[in-house]
Amino acid sequence: MKTRRRANPSAPDSPAALAQACHPSHCDRVKSVRPYLIWFAVAVLLALAAVYTMQWLRKHPEHNPAARFELAQPQGWATQRKLMGLAGDADACFAAFDRAGAGYLRRPPIGQGGCRADQRMILTGNKLVPTMAPAEVAPSCAVTAAMVLWHRDVVAPLTRKYFGQRVARIENLGSYNCRNIRGGTRLSQHSTANAIDVSAFVLADGTRVSVVGDWSGGGAKAAFLREVRDGACDLFSTTLSPDFNAAHADHFHLDLTARKSGWTTCR
Ligand SMILES: [Zn+2]
Repeated sequence: MKTRRRANPSAPDSPAALAQACHPSHCDRVKSVRPYLIWFAVAVLLALAAVYTMQWLRKHPEHNPAARFELAQPQGWATQRKLMGLAGDADACFAAFDRAGAGYLRRPPIGQGGCRADQRMILTGNKLVPTMAPAEVAPSCAVTAAMVLWHRDVVAPLTRKYFGQRVARIENLGSYNCRNIRGGTRLSQHSTANAIDVSAFVLADGTRVSVVGDWSGGGAKAAFLREVRDGACDLFSTTLSPDFNAAHADHFHLDLTARKSGWTTCR
C-alpha cells in the first residue's frame, strides 16, 4: 500500500520555504542587475576573444592584413591583398626583396602617364624563381613577388607531383606593353608592367609543357596546367587562361590589378 508524504513547510526545499527565500525587494534587485551581469559577461568574453585573435595573428602574419609582407611567409588569407598593395608601393615591395636577401636588378622607369612603369625588376640568379625565358622580361616588383610565391607553393610542388622533377625555366610572352585591354578602351595592366604572360614550363630534363600545346591534350601535362592556373588564382588578382577566350589560347595572363572590392578574376 502506497503512503503519500505530506509536505513539510519547514523543509528547505518546500514551496513555502522557497517563496520566503526571496524577499520581494531582493528579488527586484537581482532582476534589475541581471541584464548588466549578462552584458558584463559578454564583454569579458569578447575581450578574451580579441586578445586571443591578436596573439594568433601575431603568430600568423600571413593572415593579418596589417602585418608587413615577407617573401618567406607562407600563403595566408591576407597574402593576395598584400600583393595587390605592393603594386602601388614600390618601396615596400623592394624592401621585402632586400630583407629576403634576393639578388635583383631594378630597371629604370619607362613610359609616361598611364603607361608609366616604375617598379620593373629582374631577379638575378634563380634562387627564388627559375630562370625566366626570355630572361630580360622585367615585370613589376609586385608581380615578381607573386611569381616567387607561385613558383614556391604551386609550380614547384606540382612539377614534382606530376613529373617527379623540378622546373628549370618559365617561358613568357612579355610583361611591359603600353596598350589597351584587347577589344576594350581601358589600359591593360601590361601598360605598367603589372602583368606577365606565361606560356610554358621547361622541366629539368628538357620536357616542355606549353599552354598552347598541352592545355587540351589530356593527361598529366593538361592536369598540371590546370592546377598551376588554379594556384595562380590565389595570388594574382587576375588570372586568364585558355578557358577565358581564344586570345589566351597560348598563355596565362597574370596581373595584380588593385581592386578595392577585393574581387578577383579567375578564368
Ligand atoms: Zn597579358
